[in-house]
Formats: sequence, structure tokens, C-alpha cells
Amino acid sequence: MTVPLLRVEAVEAAYQGSIVALHSVSLEVRTGEIHALLGANGAGKSTTLKAVSNLLPAERGQVTAGRIVFDGHDTGRTSPADLVRLGLVQVLEGRHCFRALTVEENLLTGALGRGARRAEIAGDLARVYAIFPKLEPRRRTLAGLCSGGEQQMAAIGRALMSRPRLLVLDEPSMGLAPLVVRDIFEQLRRLNREQGLAILVAEQNSTVALQYADRATVLDVGTTVLGDDASALRRRADIQSLYFGEGIAGSEATAPVAA
Ligand code: ATP
Repeated sequence: MTVPLLRVEAVEAAYQGSIVALHSVSLEVRTGEIHALLGANGAGKSTTLKAVSNLLPAERGQVTAGRIVFDGHDTGRTSPADLVRLGLVQVLEGRHCFRALTVEENLLTGALGRGARRAEIAGDLARVYAIFPKLEPRRRTLAGLCSGGEQQMAAIGRALMSRPRLLVLDEPSMGLAPLVVRDIFEQLRRLNREQGLAILVAEQNSTVALQYADRATVLDVGTTVLGDDASALRRRADIQSLYFGEGIAGSEATAPVAA
């Protein structure tokens, strides 16, 4: 059996010392897979991802039990910047872009700290534009003036500029039109299939996530309640009503739409 790229073992986490957000979260991301982290609002998806990238201390949170290992490194003992250098790169919830920078400047920030040469960076930029062709004509546009979908693509593109081995995404579908969501997931799958990029993606939109994922983990009130092949979870109609509330998660028709 191969060693997983990321292992989250019975993690418990709290904010401000007393607000317990995670009770017992366990999951494994294997090399080369797309792994979906599913759950309703407040189930603990974002907290889990922040724990993975060691970003909880920045929000007065901490892992209080369990451990997280990325490629042999205990993430709790590795700075977020070092985790990026090791290949664990996260796109935070909410399409984080530098709104006052152009799209291309946003992408270039992803290459900072890698000490890459100019030719290498130019090659990486070209690859990002090949994955998200809609970004190229917008390269000199301020990110703040771009559509929600373009901002999400720029945020993912910036992460790609850091040359991740594990790309961690927090609700990339949030606030985007269904067609834009599909476009983004199609490109993520292409990156996964063609370049072997492992992806851990938290989503409330379980229908879309399960369509593109290889495996998935379901959280409920800060606890892992299910983990299986995505195909098996797709067949279980009860999952929607059990964990997401009927008609909420996965319903593209009810997803809020942005330009
Ligand atoms: P959402 O889709 O709404 O982001 P989620 O599944 O990502 O939901 P989390 O954001 O991880 O869930 O929240 C898990 C719990 O932790 C919730 O009860 C939430 O109120 C709490 N929480 C999240 N962030 C903080 C914070 N910075 N300080 C205190 N409590 C927090």
C-alpha cells in the first residue's frame, strides 16, 4: 500500500482556546487523486483546511489533538511558508486576489519566494494562461475589476505559480454561476489527470465535487462521518438529506450567481 501524500489523523481543533470546531477529523489524500471534503455550513471544512496548511494560529485557533502529516512533514511544526515550498499550496475561501494588482501581477506573487529564474516564471505564466485562457486577455486588468470567475481562476493560477504537489481549495464554487464552476472543475481535473497534481477540495456543492473527485470525506459537526470512493457516495441519495439538508447542497439551481 502506498503512503498517502497527506494524512489527517483524529484532529481536534479549537478557536480562542475554547470554541471547539473539530472533534475528530481524519482523512487521507493519496498521490495523484482529487479528494473532496464535504459537509454543511459550519461542519468544519475550512478549519480542517487551515489546520492542514498550519494557518489556524493566524485566527487564534490551534490543533489540540491528533496530527497532520504532509509528505513526511508534521504540518503543525512547519511554517505555512515552508509548507508552500514543500508543495502544499492553499487557495483560501472567497477568491483571495490582490484587487489593486493586475491579473498578471497577482499570478506573479505566486512565484515569489521560490527564487525562480525569469525564464522559468515566463514558462509557468504561459502554462497558467493555457489552463485558464480567459485570463490572458485580462492580464493587464486590475483583479478587482474582473468577474468572480476570473478572480477565482486568478487565485488558482497564483497557487499554480508556486508549483504545488497538493493543491488545497476552499469552496471554489462559492458564488459562481454553474457554467463557471464546471469550467473551473474541468481545468482542475485536467491538471490532475495530465500533471498528476493532487487536489483536496472543500465543497458544499456535493454534486459537482463528487462528479470530479476520486474519493471524498464527509464532515458533520467537526467529525468525519464517511469516507469512500466518490462513485459510491454519488450513488447514495441519503447523503444529501443526512448531511447537507435536502435541496441545499449540490443543487446548482440554488447556487448564488455572480457575474
Ligand atoms: P462554511 O462553509 O460556512 O465555511 P465550514 O464547514 O468551512 O463552513 P468552518 O468555517 O470550519 O466550517 O467552521 C466550523 C466551526 O468553527 C463553526 O462553528 C464556526 O462558527 C467556527 N469558527 C470558524 N472560524 C472561527 C473563528 N475564526 N473563530 C471562532 N470560531 C470559528
